[in-house]
Amino acid sequence: MLIANHILIVGGGFSGTLLAINLVRHGMARVSLIERDPARMGRGLAYGAAQEDHVLNVRAANMSAFPDEPDHFATWLEAHGLGGRQSFATRQTYGAYLSDLLQDARHRSGEQLHVIVGNGVDLSFNGSNGAARLTLEDGRVVGADAVVLTPGNLPPHDLPPFAGLEAPLYVRDPWSCEIAEDLAGQDQVLLIGSGLTAIDCALTLRSRGFSGRIVTLSRRGLIPYSHSDAGHHAPLKVRPSETGSALVKMMRQRARFVGWRNAVDELRPFTQDIWRAADDEARRRFLRHLRPYWDVHRHRLAPDVRERIDAMQANGSFLTFAGKIVDARANTEGIAISWRPRGQRDTKTIMARRAINCTGPLGDLARTRDPLLQQLRDAGLIRPDSLAIGIDVDREGHAINAQGEPSKRLFAAGPMTRGAHWEVIAVPDIRRQVGSLARRLALSHWIEGNGL
Ligand SMILES: Cc1cc2nc3c(=O)[nH]c(=O)nc-3n(C[C@H](O)[C@H](O)[C@H](O)COP(=O)(O)OP(=O)(O)OC[C@H]3O[C@@H](n4cnc5c(N)ncnc54)[C@H](O)[C@@H]3O)c2cc1C
Repeated sequence: MLIANHILIVGGGFSGTLLAINLVRHGMARVSLIERDPARMGRGLAYGAAQEDHVLNVRAANMSAFPDEPDHFATWLEAHGLGGRQSFATRQTYGAYLSDLLQDARHRSGEQLHVIVGNGVDLSFNGSNGAARLTLEDGRVVGADAVVLTPGNLPPHDLPPFAGLEAPLYVRDPWSCEIAEDLAGQDQVLLIGSGLTAIDCALTLRSRGFSGRIVTLSRRGLIPYSHSDAGHHAPLKVRPSETGSALVKMMRQRARFVGWRNAVDELRPFTQDIWRAADDEARRRFLRHLRPYWDVHRHRLAPDVRERIDAMQANGSFLTFAGKIVDARANTEGIAISWRPRGQRDTKTIMARRAINCTGPLGDLARTRDPLLQQLRDAGLIRPDSLAIGIDVDREGHAINAQGEPSKRLFAAGPMTRGAHWEVIAVPDIRRQVGSLARRLALSHWIEGNGL
């Protein structure tokens, strides 16, 4: 039986920060929030590594940090003279909002909330009572009753053809500021992938003065669509009973009446339940065949951003190719990338001065280079979910160990729990997830841990 008085959260991005704030609100005696990168404390990758012209892909009205106060962010934005409910604020602005919330929670909570800059590298549950001990890279040790992992999205892995290449020819980290360094107007840059990360990189390249051609190459060559004012309609009230291709057919029919954006959005309250109801085979089929289409319809761009991309496409400075990269070789001109266009046998070659990995986050624990996740995996305290897209957790967020048992003291939240919930990547879903996890952890006091 666990009575948690001290919760340790590893990862100070949106998920960890909001979990800490919620725990404090629920009266948890002590909360320690650990973040390895001071610039990302309270902001994480999405809102701590953003450039000036990276905007949110969700309107302010849907970006409140608290589900029970839906206008919280829009009100903050208005109070700071930075926009209103319908605005697509910049991600730096959103980071400032989160940072404000964290400051405020620290100020109000006094000794309750500890914010620690450090890199957690080793976690064990020792001691006579099984309490947690997290060792940081610099040797400090933090103890707690229970630990929540909120490591966020892990960096993408290298595609095999690029494995031996290094910067400045091949850039592994699409969020590094150096992606535009030392490029000239006649150069060509290849973005590997054409999703939201590639769009971010294209904007960064342009805002840093790169005027040459940008080429994106992905399996299907799909670029995210944009938001528009889809108009109001009566949304679905009950979860559709269809699954797989029948569900796609139903959505197509629905799209004829309410528009495709509404048809996608109205599924949102049910997506997690649909995912949980599907078996592994159905989930695999979705990942293999439907995911790219789902992503470009579901995770949309702010209209201004899409207009900028459209303008670049129109003047020929932004090209999108569909195909598979088969080889990449450095030469005196840059990198020669051989690729096979989708549906064709013959290969073609693209010459690029730089190639940037925009393939999106890695969720496969077997391949992660993150020291803490490696250590936890090797110790059998966590395991990959059955689709190898994240950390295996049960519905309440308990980490499942190598023997298949839910841990009493180790939890995970945020995008790395996508195997269990799928739709747990964006703010509206994460805020709900961490809100209810905080409530359950805080309630463990007076229900003597039965809820844990
Ligand atoms: C570029 C981008 C743009 C997005 N835009 C939007 C948007 O407009 N609207 C929306 O709703 N959603 C958006 N999202 C999705 C969503 O907001 C993010 O997925 C969410 O912020 C995830 O937060 P997180 O805290 O789980 O992860 P992260 O933000 O990745 O934070 C995890 C943190 O944990 C730290 N960490 C990891 N391991 C350790 C360790 N061992 N020790 C110490 N620290 C550690 C990392 O340094 C990192 O700062 C975006 C996501 C990305 C990546």
